[in-house]
Amino acid sequence: MSIQQKYTIIFSNLAVLQIICAILAVRSDKHIKKYTACLNLSITIPIVANIIIIRAFSPGISLFGYYLSYIGMDVIMIAMLGFTNMYCKGVDDYKSHQKPYPLYFMAIADMIQLALGPVFHHVVTLEQTMLDGSVFYPDVAHIGLTIHRIVDYIIFGCILLIYIVSMLKCSKLYRAKYSVILVTLILSGTTQFAFISSKIPVDRSVIAHGAVGIIIFYFSIIRRPLRLLDTMLSNVVSGLNDAVFVFDNTNRIVWINEQACELLDMKEVRMGIVREKLFDKFKNITNRGENWSENRVLGDKYYILEKKTVKTNQKYSDGSFLVIKDDTVRHNEMEKEIFNSMHDNLTGIYNMQYLYSRIRNEIQSSDKDFCAIFINIKNFKLINDNFGKSFGDVVLIRMAKWMKTNIKSGFYGRLVADTFGICMPKEDFDEEFISQELSNLVVKFRNMEHKINIHIGVYDILDKSLDVSIMFDRAHFAITDIEENYKTVIHYYNEDIKKVLLEEQRLAANLEVALETDQIRPYLQPIADRDGRIVGAEALARWLHPDLGYLAPYRFIPLFEKNGMITDLDVHIWKHACRTLSKWKETHPDTFISINISPKDFYFTDVIAEINTLVEKYEIDPHLLRIEITETAMMTESQERIRILNEFRKAGFIVEMDDFGSGYSSLNLLKDMPVDVLKIDMQFLSDENNSKSNIIIDSIINLSNELDITPLTEGVETEEQFEQLRTMGCELFQGYYFSKPIPVKDFERLLESGDE
Ligand code: C2E
Ligand code: CA
Ligand code: CA
Repeated sequence: MSIQQKYTIIFSNLAVLQIICAILAVRSDKHIKKYTACLNLSITIPIVANIIIIRAFSPGISLFGYYLSYIGMDVIMIAMLGFTNMYCKGVDDYKSHQKPYPLYFMAIADMIQLALGPVFHHVVTLEQTMLDGSVFYPDVAHIGLTIHRIVDYIIFGCILLIYIVSMLKCSKLYRAKYSVILVTLILSGTTQFAFISSKIPVDRSVIAHGAVGIIIFYFSIIRRPLRLLDTMLSNVVSGLNDAVFVFDNTNRIVWINEQACELLDMKEVRMGIVREKLFDKFKNITNRGENWSENRVLGDKYYILEKKTVKTNQKYSDGSFLVIKDDTVRHNEMEKEIFNSMHDNLTGIYNMQYLYSRIRNEIQSSDKDFCAIFINIKNFKLINDNFGKSFGDVVLIRMAKWMKTNIKSGFYGRLVADTFGICMPKEDFDEEFISQELSNLVVKFRNMEHKINIHIGVYDILDKSLDVSIMFDRAHFAITDIEENYKTVIHYYNEDIKKVLLEEQRLAANLEVALETDQIRPYLQPIADRDGRIVGAEALARWLHPDLGYLAPYRFIPLFEKNGMITDLDVHIWKHACRTLSKWKETHPDTFISINISPKDFYFTDVIAEINTLVEKYEIDPHLLRIEITETAMMTESQERIRILNEFRKAGFIVEMDDFGSGYSSLNLLKDMPVDVLKIDMQFLSDENNSKSNIIIDSIINLSNELDITPLTEGVETEEQFEQLRTMGCELFQGYYFSKPIPVKDFERLLESGDE
């Protein structure tokens, strides 16, 4: 076989290989595929050119082959630049990366210069020799070809530089990716150089170019960096918080991570003993099937075990791995959360939601009769206020403890604040025992024993389909009317209570309309001075109900105070009072009206702002609108209330303390209270034990006069009382002796008759 034939075969194969590589590259899913394919195709150009050169039978064809091979080299350089850029910079950097435009420009300029060769003959001329018996045309380089070679070597050098820099700047793992290409490039560059400087006829460096093409194809398209994956994955697994054991296909443990070492109490990895230790600790791990997971409790630790088998093809296992997760913290937290969601934080007994759900399930599934028991600690607010919150807590804990020891059947829990609930079969409810026990409940606190008063309401559950909250509401209602009873007594929910509840519901539902249509309006009760002259009045609400007729305040005021609707009613009465005062500006310019402020009003509205707005709207002198606040309203949040009273006085209102003497306040309290008038409670007048009451009233009147507070006595019913109070030094008087509360019109008539 002649040299020509031999190289034709080698070169053709090389060209075909490049084309195959290019096709495979385009079909792959690598981002670099276009660059690789272009490079492979560009390499085919000088290969084909060289086939033409060695097979040429005329100088013309040979010359064409030479030009094609030179220009082909430029094309390779351009393709190589593109590929290298992408290969070394990666996808993300590629777009933003500065591209080597001068090098592209040089290559293109060189191609143009070469293309002009046939015109100017400055690139190459051919000689003629014989090669292996056939005619062959070697090239003789001129200036154009030299320029071409210099250009290509410059570009080539730059490409090498890019690979060298990339290699130096990457981690060891990636070095092969650059170094192999670098080495083949250097080899092909050197063979090319060797060919140029020798005078060998056939360009063997073409083989080196072909090799470069194939190696580049392999590295950019085929090769998967397995070692890289290995290292990455084992780093990931080592970093996991869970212990990982890797088994081979014969179930031998071949690798474990640090956490696995720790789990088995090993200081360092000793594969020889891992298996034994693992099986000692967790047992029953093999022969459990391919994939399984399980929770295990070992002492106070909770683990989640998960075994997975890995298969690359359907049939045979490549091995398996076991992950053991220490779940103790999460498990304990979850248990705690579940416990907390069912129990009251303070007392540790069931909370309301959970108690209700337990009761619901229990009574539905049982055919026994049950009762719902509502327990309320009497005056708990006072306990908290007077002895501190920590004592309040002790009381609640004591109550819970009592239930834990004494309630043997059914369920119990804390409802809200100071109330508890029990639900038990009726047959187990021992009224006498419970009443006896709870009426003698004593709480020890700081070496003192405190007796706790408790109220118990009982609802016999007749209708099991009722909502549990309603059952306890009913049990609660049974004791709402015994608030003032100091003995612990058990009260039962019955039909009367039901009636009261229904009426309360009805009144609450009627309130809005009642206010809009003035069914509710103030009556005025005269207030007299020492001469018996009417100087003012107290506005007292009356409800002329279309169905129920005349309703006195005790029928609705406590109800609205309880459900928070009182403020709507009060504002309504205040408005009426202001309107009346404004009407009196001409006729009775000195007559005042006192209005009642419920303690609840402070929670539901800005009382000062509300009253100021009214006074401004009706343009009345604040001096004529007197503000009545009960003594008990001053007991809670005293400082804030005192601030409010001061503001009222600053704004020109006269402040009266209502019902003085009805609560627990001491005379001592008086000196701190910013009030102008003291309304002494009528209970002293109605008291049977007259002489003692008189002494008390006398001293209250004296004290208030000394403190510069005007004393007013309520509930004056007889002339005798009036006379007596006058001699005691009382300044103002209110009571049936002068008049009952009467409609505004009647009051005005009364005033006018007095004027005459
Ligand atoms: P209070 O503020 O102490 O009003 C005085 C109560 O004593 C009035 O009862 C009045 O009718 C009654 N009374 C006056 N003189 C005598 C007397 O000589 N003998 C007897 N036995 N009773 C007398 P009323 O009008 O039934 O009001 C009861 C309570 O309802 C009031 O007590 C007050 O606390 C409340 N109240 C009345 N109207 C309103 C209101 O508009 N808003 C608020 N928040 N509470 C009101
Ligand atoms: Ca009053
Ligand atoms: Ca009063």
